[in-house]
Amino acid sequence: MDIAELSDRISKGERRALARAITLVESGRADHREQAGALLTALGRHDRQALRIGLSGTPGVGKSTFIESFGMMLTGQGLRVAVLAVDPSSARSGGSILGDKTRMERLSRDRNAFIRPSPSQTHLGGVARRTREAVSLCEAAGFDVVLIETVGVGQSETVVAEISDLFLLLLAPAGGDELQGVKRGIMEMADLILVNKADGALKSTAMRTCADYSGALRLLRKRPQDPEGFPKAIPVSAVEETGLDQAWEDMQALAGWRREAGHWEARRAAQSRYWFEEEVRHALLAQLSTQEARARMSDLSDRVASGVQSPSAAAKEMLASLHAP
Ligand code: GDP
Repeated sequence: MDIAELSDRISKGERRALARAITLVESGRADHREQAGALLTALGRHDRQALRIGLSGTPGVGKSTFIESFGMMLTGQGLRVAVLAVDPSSARSGGSILGDKTRMERLSRDRNAFIRPSPSQTHLGGVARRTREAVSLCEAAGFDVVLIETVGVGQSETVVAEISDLFLLLLAPAGGDELQGVKRGIMEMADLILVNKADGALKSTAMRTCADYSGALRLLRKRPQDPEGFPKAIPVSAVEETGLDQAWEDMQALAGWRREAGHWEARRAAQSRYWFEEEVRHALLAQLSTQEARARMSDLSDRVASGVQSPSAAAKEMLASLHAP
């Protein structure tokens, strides 16, 4: 299939074409990268915009259960939902825990849903860069909502926030002491905290946890890009499917407010700048790690060590030796 045809099929919302395009985008092969670039350019001029929702939470908090219930609720309303994952463990081990096919069984059978596990790459940065392109492809394919899931282990939230319009944090009911466990930086990133498992025996603990986090959020600096009452914490139950409509209402309210206030476009523009700089940095690092470059680096490094050349002069020479691939 050539790029024009692939692009055409994606525009028509064909899931198989989308899956194929994402494979292209994730590939490290030079010819695939080139085709992926051409494809993204070909698709670049569509005016479709999805709501990109980042979702983070530690393993066991209920991310897959929530995504399935929430996703089914949205497809039930006639919306098309894509689910992508940024899995930092796949970056380390090459195997993806978010790639488990048995997850989200109902949603994966839904015609209006598209689920894609995390790409396996060697760097979190690489996974995130490719996921960002996958988000654009889903958007071009006419998906209304793109959920980007990540395991909460610190760094991955930051990159997921750089891909999303809204950032959700899923938490489990917990005693007051554990509130300390959520890093301040992650709290500051969250637009909405969902305290999951607010059902059965856990319900009262969940309500208390929710109140604790609401209090903690009020202590954070009020963000100018947020309307009154945000960021906020609400209880949900992914299993009993309660609170999901409230969560969706809050997300839409926040997104709508940001659109009207101009913060939406500003955020996307800032994200584009961020990813542009990331691409440049990445390409430069790649040029520095070729065999030839490493040999030259080592050679110049020896010259600097023995005092033949100054560090800055050697650096200049090294940089001048790099050229566009
Ligand atoms: P993930 O690792 O974050 O994707 O978590 P899972 O979705 O796999 O859920 C972990 C466990 O928590 C499973 O045993 C779920 O059945 C359970 N769980 C998820 N959501 C809820 C919920 O809303 N209420 C209760 N009681 N259990 C839940």
